[in-house]
Amino acid sequence: MGTLRTYLASLLHSFYPRRCVVCGTPLVEGEQGLCTQCVLRMPRTGYHTQEGNPVEVSFWGRAQLERATSYFFYEKGSDFRHLLHRLKYGGRKDLGYLMGRVVATELRESDFLKDIDLLVPVPLHPRKQRERGYNQSACLAKGLSQVTGIPVNTISLIRRRHHESQTHKRRYDRWLNVDGIFALRHPERLAGKHLLLIDDVLTTGATITACCDALKEVEGVRISVFTLAVAQ
Ligand SMILES: [Zn+2]
Repeated sequence: MGTLRTYLASLLHSFYPRRCVVCGTPLVEGEQGLCTQCVLRMPRTGYHTQEGNPVEVSFWGRAQLERATSYFFYEKGSDFRHLLHRLKYGGRKDLGYLMGRVVATELRESDFLKDIDLLVPVPLHPRKQRERGYNQSACLAKGLSQVTGIPVNTISLIRRRHHESQTHKRRYDRWLNVDGIFALRHPERLAGKHLLLIDDVLTTGATITACCDALKEVEGVRISVFTLAVAQ
């Protein structure tokens, strides 16, 4: 059975070679999701080693954070949009686990994760998660957890109501839109903990700010933020 499966896999592989989601180059053995070249040329921010970095500054006066970082710069039209898009809408959970592991390996070199007790992915509305089948931020969190051993909590922070797509709204409207959409369940599980809030892309910061508004009800909680990409 194992042999048959291997045979069929290699047959399929010859018809449909696995390709890098970013540049389309066929992947070689040992590569997953992205080719080595694309992993290397990813425009990393290096913000995790820099206190007072631009992501942290962008939250000043909006959310009380310990630290914040985004892993890579995302420019509109860049090839890396394929990575973000397939992770979010294309059913490619594997890209979330993979990037979580890649990121964790690099963040571990600094003190960014040292003090983190729990990984908390930004939740999707339950209906959206049912339609999509997964939460891309939770996949990132799981990948991070596989390398660091830091547990993931997906039950305490919940999304309250479905809201229409924010894509075509003006910045001001987005603020109104996200206000009060997150709530807590079993907040005692978060008490006194240092949480790392995890999301895929940072744009206006409104979603993270709304999460922090809900979390500030928790006794003694401290919050840091990680996003895979930051929009430029
Ligand atoms: Zn590539």
